[in-house]
Amino acid sequence: MQILHPFAGSIQRYLEEISDPDRYRPDHCPQCAAKHPLTGHGFYRRTLVDAAFDGFIRVRRYLCRICKRTVSLLPEFALPWLRFSVSVIAVFLVARLLGGFTLMAAARAAAQSSMPYQRGQFWIRRFQNEAPALSLALAPLATSVPASDFISRALRMLDSVGWIAAHRFLFSQLRAHLLGWPACLAPDGRRITLPPTRPSS
Ligand SMILES: [Zn+2]
Repeated sequence: MQILHPFAGSIQRYLEEISDPDRYRPDHCPQCAAKHPLTGHGFYRRTLVDAAFDGFIRVRRYLCRICKRTVSLLPEFALPWLRFSVSVIAVFLVARLLGGFTLMAAARAAAQSSMPYQRGQFWIRRFQNEAPALSLALAPLATSVPASDFISRALRMLDSVGWIAAHRFLFSQLRAHLLGWPACLAPDGRRITLPPTRPSS
C-alpha cells in the first residue's frame, strides 16, 4: 500500500532526508491498525521526471510485523503509477486547457519540449474524465470559482488550492488520484491483496 510521505519540500531535500528510517517512521499500521511502529523495510526505486530532474528516486518502505504487509511512503511531488511529477502535469494541463496553448507549446511550458504529443493527449483525456469528480472532491478546500465547465472549474480550483496540496488531500483523505486510477489499481489505488492466512479455529 502506498501512503504519502509526511515530508514536504523539494526533490533535493527529499533525497537527502530519506536515508534516516527513524525520521518519518509511521507509528502505526494504516492497513491493520496495529499500534506498533513499523519496521524499516528498505526502498524501492521509481523514475521521476520534474522540470529540472529526470532520474530515479528511492521510496522508503516499511513492514508491519503484525499483518506482514508493506507500506511505502511516496513523496508528495510524485504521483502513484505516473512517471511525471505533479507540477509538470499541472503546468501542461493549465497551459493547454486554460491557456489555449498548442500541445507542443504546453509541453514546452512544462519543460518537456521533446515529449511525444500522445503523452499530453493521454494526460488531457484522463483529466477530462476526472474533472467532475475533482470539482466535487475539492469543494471543501476551494472557494467556489466561476467556470463554464467542469474542466475549467477543476483547473481553477486546483490552482487556488495548490496542486500538491490538492493531491495530498485527494490521495490521503479520499484515495483519489488527480488523473484517476488505472483499471488494475481501481477503485482506490490498492492492488487487490489477499488477507493474511489465519489459522482456522
Ligand atoms: Zn499491519
